[in-house]
Amino acid sequence: MDTPKDIIKNYHVKPRKKLGQSFLLDQNIIGKIVTAAHITPQDVVVEIGAGIGVLTEGLAQNARKLIAVELDKNLVAILQDKLAGRENVEIHSGDIMKFDFNSVSNTYNSKIKVFGNVPYNISSPVIFRLLSFRSVIDGFILMLQKEVVERLVAVPNNKSYGIPSVLLQMFASLEKILDVPATCFYPQPKVESAVIRGTFFEEPAMKLSGEAFFTSLVKAAFAQRRKMLNNNLKNSSLLSDIEEEKIKEALVSAGIDGRRRAETLSVAEFGNLSNLLQDLEKNK
Ligand code: SAH
Repeated sequence: MDTPKDIIKNYHVKPRKKLGQSFLLDQNIIGKIVTAAHITPQDVVVEIGAGIGVLTEGLAQNARKLIAVELDKNLVAILQDKLAGRENVEIHSGDIMKFDFNSVSNTYNSKIKVFGNVPYNISSPVIFRLLSFRSVIDGFILMLQKEVVERLVAVPNNKSYGIPSVLLQMFASLEKILDVPATCFYPQPKVESAVIRGTFFEEPAMKLSGEAFFTSLVKAAFAQRRKMLNNNLKNSSLLSDIEEEKIKEALVSAGIDGRRRAETLSVAEFGNLSNLLQDLEKNK
């Protein structure tokens, strides 16, 4: 089998920085990611940014179906050439931010597993897009900037704990699988990378009256990280129709001291507070 270096050389690949192209060279890491994927013959897999296909072949080996999504037409041509013989692989030329996971799920009557060494400039939008399709996605294994992985898995009172941690952990269990040094890529990124596994829950970690409200509340609570919850909530446009006293009462009912900072609240405390405040909003 060709190594990633062979492919880059044979196809004269010139990495395009604008598309976040940074190819995995390290066969050992590639093997570890594929093994961690635990793909079974029932699995329908979508790979984000398949590039020159270094992960694609391994992922496709055991899968029922693998759909490799790639935006760069030059790389799409390489993928088609390399994977031509594989019946269970489909190359999708296009933008992952427009990719319709629902239709794939319908076609195969199955939930989807998502993989990818994702361009770092679009990692947040990609993650929130996966979250929005979670009814048809089982989970994901993604290579991301290490700092982003640390933010996603962070627990309260940790400096990395923030909006993405809370919003994702309400809907998924998350674990860091491994760190990947910059030297494993060509070209080498300026940042360190890590691989994260996320598994979406059937239901959110707690029952929410409204998911959009929950999202807005978490954002409002962290608006100014070093400020007390009291102040961030008082100043938020989300709650501008609710009297300050009522907000304080909701905090008391939730058992949360308003002098705390958002970064000290657990995901469940955010959920509870969101439900109480949304009730006030409805009944005012
Ligand atoms: N998986 C390969 C390539 C990773 S680099 C490897 O590990 O070696 C990221 C890849 O995502 C590049 O191939 C880039 O062209 C592709 N890409 C960038 N933006 C994209 C988008 N919006 N949708 C789909 N693919 C994209």
